[in-house]
Amino acid sequence: LFITFEGIDGSGKSTQCRLLAEALQKAGRNVVLTREPGGSPGAEEIRRLVLEGDPDRWSAETELLLFMAARRDHLERTIEPALAAGKVVICDRFADSTRMYQGLSRGDLRAAVDQMHALMIGREPDLTLLIDMDPAEGLARAKGRQGKEERFEDFGIGLQEKMRAGFLALAQEFADRFRVVDGARPLDDVAADVRRLADEALEG
Ligand code: C5P
Repeated sequence: LFITFEGIDGSGKSTQCRLLAEALQKAGRNVVLTREPGGSPGAEEIRRLVLEGDPDRWSAETELLLFMAARRDHLERTIEPALAAGKVVICDRFADSTRMYQGLSRGDLRAAVDQMHALMIGREPDLTLLIDMDPAEGLARAKGRQGKEERFEDFGIGLQEKMRAGFLALAQEFADRFRVVDGARPLDDVAADVRRLADEALEG
């Protein structure tokens, strides 16, 4: 089973990924916890190329190509082998982030994202958990973290609001696999919802 987490910066999805992975491991499942951009040695190298250094180094189009190359490597080296071995793969961001970040916020590239996805990726998650959160709260959380990779989080509140709306629209577009979780509640409550939805998918 392939489970992905999506949401705006600071939504708490990385924490929820980790908590779900730990809970499923405790329940005896074989779990691979991974992330994008990254998740394989080659894709982690591309992550550094894109997220570190001058934010204007790449055009939106080049950035899209780099993210797609990273995803293809991640898929080949990490995700597909784990799924073939019957493991549960939990991924912090996947193609939906590219539909939003490269497709909507960095450029008007959604059609290119979809065509490249169909040609080179193909795989969609079985379950996507959108951790939905008020952008003001998300931004405050994201800014609380320090790190050189955080350049994308300097978007400002207007863009975060556009992203939130975009993710909610994506959840309707792919309603069969998306579930929206209210991320503005205490961590344990969010985790309980996440666990219930994952269990439903695992049993179904
Ligand atoms: O989820 P995480 O915080 O690790 O993502 C790192 C940064 O990369 C985020 O700030 C996010 O905005 C950006 N990103 C992106 N395009 C993607 C995935 C992530 O711009 N497809």
